[in-house]
Amino acid sequence: MTPEELRRAVERALREYPYAYPDIIHVTDACNPCLRQAYYKRVYGSIKRPAMIEGSRVHEELLDRLAYELNCTEEISTVYYYQYGGSLIAIEGVADLLCDGYIVELKTSRRGYIKDSWVMQLNAYMKMFNVDKGFIVLIHGDRESRIEVREYQFSGELWDDFLDRVIRLHIALKNQEPPVERNEKLCPYCEYKNLCRPEKRLA
Ligand code: SF4
Repeated sequence: MTPEELRRAVERALREYPYAYPDIIHVTDACNPCLRQAYYKRVYGSIKRPAMIEGSRVHEELLDRLAYELNCTEEISTVYYYQYGGSLIAIEGVADLLCDGYIVELKTSRRGYIKDSWVMQLNAYMKMFNVDKGFIVLIHGDRESRIEVREYQFSGELWDDFLDRVIRLHIALKNQEPPVERNEKLCPYCEYKNLCRPEKRLA
């Protein structure tokens, strides 16, 4: 074993399994602010950075404590089946906390605002777990670790927008052709920017 072999083994272990089966769509993929990025992640997998792994551990620890305190179930998964054309799409989702009549999604951010993609994700879970109310809890990454809590009611319109993204990702995976998407703000930080040909992105 050489250091380089060991480095490659660690890299492989960090890489998520590429899982491009088109009839399974994860809520977080369909809610990704760039559907093209979601496509690449499904096809090529993702290398998680150590900081992200550390962040997810903190997330798990917090969920543990909150589930106990609020009497909720943490990281609960479900599947919603959606018929589209000749396909039965299994939409998979894992909500942070399912409580008595509401869902909680816990987020941390340095940028300090609630993203539209999070709201779409929460809304999808409300439908999938058959509850009308949900909360996004945002822990700001500033020195005070401010906590912002926002309440949402289920929106049928947002659910339709979500299904539209599910279908677009499903078709892209089926045809093995990245969807046409434009989200220039994300591009500089995107781990797939070398794969993503700009002329398609801007088409
Ligand atoms: S480079 Fe930009 S357009 Fe291409 S996948 Fe990444 S975020 Fe999306």
